[in-house]
Amino acid sequence: MGSDTTAITEFMTAKGHEQVVFVTDPPSGLRAIIAVHSTALGPSLGGIRFWRYPSEHDAVLDVLRLSEAMSLKASAAGLHQGGGKAVVLWDDPDAARSEALLRAMGRAIDELGGRYIAAEDVGATPRDMQVIASETPWVTGIEGPGGSGDPSPMTAYGVVKAMETVLEELDGHPTLAGKRVVVDGVGHVGSHLTRLVADAGARVAVADVNPERVDVLVREIGADALPVEGALEEVCDVLAPCALGGVLNKETIPRLQCRAVCGAANNQLADPTDDDALAARGIVYAPDFVVNAGGIINLAEEFVGYDRERARARTAQIAGTLRRVFTLAREEGVPPGRAAEQMARRRIVEEGAGRRWKPGDPADWTNGAPLRTLRPA
Ligand code: NAD
Repeated sequence: MGSDTTAITEFMTAKGHEQVVFVTDPPSGLRAIIAVHSTALGPSLGGIRFWRYPSEHDAVLDVLRLSEAMSLKASAAGLHQGGGKAVVLWDDPDAARSEALLRAMGRAIDELGGRYIAAEDVGATPRDMQVIASETPWVTGIEGPGGSGDPSPMTAYGVVKAMETVLEELDGHPTLAGKRVVVDGVGHVGSHLTRLVADAGARVAVADVNPERVDVLVREIGADALPVEGALEEVCDVLAPCALGGVLNKETIPRLQCRAVCGAANNQLADPTDDDALAARGIVYAPDFVVNAGGIINLAEEFVGYDRERARARTAQIAGTLRRVFTLAREEGVPPGRAAEQMARRRIVEEGAGRRWKPGDPADWTNGAPLRTLRPA
């Protein structure tokens, strides 16, 4: 995208974005961008990120990329949702936001009438989301009645289901018992994941820039502690990146000593061609946006009346989705990341059939009734 503003619509056209809304509220200082990538499969869903961007151009590019990624994630997960994302330009992500600013953001979301459904993302706090939700019903993942709460246990459960499928692909059977798993980053998702794979009989080694998080798991379940610098190079069956994006790149891929990569972190490949580099090394890559869909699957369950067991059952279907990805990759002779993207795009085109969801249209879960509020009364 160039520096002139017309290039934004060129980029949107190339990537299939429907709408980008720039939001300001001078009294509160709000400056935000909401991107609706696709509503072909249903109202768009995605988090609100509070972030300090080097420039407004970077913010636009980020929200465009992130909203497209949400479309692919929702599509691959079989959800009747589109992809959206919002960024609030915020210089200090840890500083508290004024109520007026959050309310202005809530009103901007409300004006879209459900075309964009918000959730928590990097830099947002549960309190931010509560204030935003006081202005609009189009918010999900908040605490309280009907809310699905913290998505990370469900995300971790989905990663385990994906890991079993990866082992089936490698060894012909999905058992984790006796396998060595390295979890890089043991925050919300990584710590749950560590406990679940240890319960399944795997030997787990963990690394985190926060040593206290590692110590807890060493004490509690006897996990091996690894230094952060060497964690990616550890000999293991499965490496689970659960910290930052971009960990699979030109420098790290030649040094990996795992048989497979399967973790929760978003955007693990620094560059799309890194998928080929992993395949060339014989490492099975389970595409991140397929593996970590448990969180969004959990959120989508709110719309039909949240039920934890049903959310678990749907999350378990990540195993079947990943199996289809590996099959398609073999059939098409492409690495799994590209196969997953093809699969997701194909569903948007074929099932979405160019639809654009309008406020008041029914959603998949309303049995033909107009969608006027997010959750069942
Ligand atoms: P988190 O912030 O709770 O945990 C991240 C952990 O990584 C922290 O403990 C942090 O100290 C550690 N870390 C940071 N830099 C590191 C480094 N260089 N090496 C090792 N550890 C490092 O975040 P989370 O909610 O657990 O999410 C983890 C990843 O999974 C993120 O990429 C997130 O986008 C993705 N994800 C999370 C969910 C969810 O349900 N929370 C859903 C989908 C995807």
